[in-house]
Amino acid sequence: MHSVLSQEIPSSEPLLDNSSFRIVKLDVSTHVDFDHHEAVYRCQDDESGLIAFIGIHNRNRGPAVGGCRMWNYQSEADAITDALRLSKGMTYKNSVSSLAFGGGKAVIFGVPSAEKRELVLEAFGRFVNTLEGRYYTAEDVGISPKDMSIVKRNTNFVYGLSEISGDPSPFTAFGVYQGIKAACEKKYGSDSLQGKRVLVQGIGHVGYYLCEYLHQDGAQLLVCDLNEKACEKAKNDFNAEIVFSDQLFGLAIDIYAPCALGGTLSAEFVNQFTGDIVSGAANNQLVTPAIGDLIHEKGVLYAPDYVINAGGIINISFEPDYSSVAAKQRVAKIRTTLRDLFERSESENVPTYRVADEMALENLKQ
Ligand code: NAD
Repeated sequence: MHSVLSQEIPSSEPLLDNSSFRIVKLDVSTHVDFDHHEAVYRCQDDESGLIAFIGIHNRNRGPAVGGCRMWNYQSEADAITDALRLSKGMTYKNSVSSLAFGGGKAVIFGVPSAEKRELVLEAFGRFVNTLEGRYYTAEDVGISPKDMSIVKRNTNFVYGLSEISGDPSPFTAFGVYQGIKAACEKKYGSDSLQGKRVLVQGIGHVGYYLCEYLHQDGAQLLVCDLNEKACEKAKNDFNAEIVFSDQLFGLAIDIYAPCALGGTLSAEFVNQFTGDIVSGAANNQLVTPAIGDLIHEKGVLYAPDYVINAGGIINISFEPDYSSVAAKQRVAKIRTTLRDLFERSESENVPTYRVADEMALENLKQ
């Protein structure tokens, strides 16, 4: 693990300091990604080797809730930047979805060895517990439901446990499907997907379930994934046409559903795009906010990522008295949120990504 403490970031008195187990609040007020965050904590446990950062952006709507990411960051400064950006993103996502959650996120600095993993996760749970419910953690990139059960040994401030709400992906996919229907309604005057050519990029946990919904609704699927087996399965199960990554530009499609990694909406991609709608599960789809303006000017309907992909967090908001039926009904409301958002974007002639931010900020004040 490459440990470079960003010495330029000052810290306050430790919240807890047992010398080998300490948590301190960092002063991030001059950081370029600082957005009046409530706090960023640096957690260090010498026994397990854990270094983690917990970002709490805003708790106006409730306790800060957001996943824990485990990643081999180049430096602690990079991890702090991620904690700042991701925790702010969770405030907007939770707020626009009208959840009683604030925004927070944790990042574990470096992927531990298999032998150390359990110790690291247990130590992380102790740190989460130290914050006494100001932050609730959950699964994110690099963390499995099994890992979360280990975190849970030392804290109750955990959401998204496999034995309660389970895999969030089907709920995320259902929300994206509802969002695509809202976009069709707006663009074509009907929510029918019959005969619509839909490109799903990334046939992973979310993408596969999404294909299932779209196929049942009569869409003509095109699929793209780096994993050949995933493509073949979609071809067999849904009669999907396989396309390769270098064939995406200028493809004759109606709807593009990015469900792999973020950052696929570049100026180059948007300029050659001949479809009508972009609506998929991937996080951070716009390479820069200006791309959102470009999409709007082009007349393409873009469903903002953090609005359409909120099905997973909506699902866990039903814990601890979990009901998958109630959760699914609530996820279906993504369609109403997007319907309102598209209307407002049109009437005010403001790009959808900006309307999403406005709606999130308005909800934050309530
Ligand atoms: P996943 O890892 O299960 O699937 C991603 C798939 O994308 C994989 O099959 C991978 O091979 C493929 N892929 C990666 N790079 C690619 C590329 N350049 N071209 C084509 N295919 C590529 O992830 P997931 O859980 O299905 O999540 C998909 C996206 O949705 C991610 O951006 C994730 O952050 C976002 N998201 C997921 C959830 C959820 O509930 N899982 C919730 C909100 C947002």
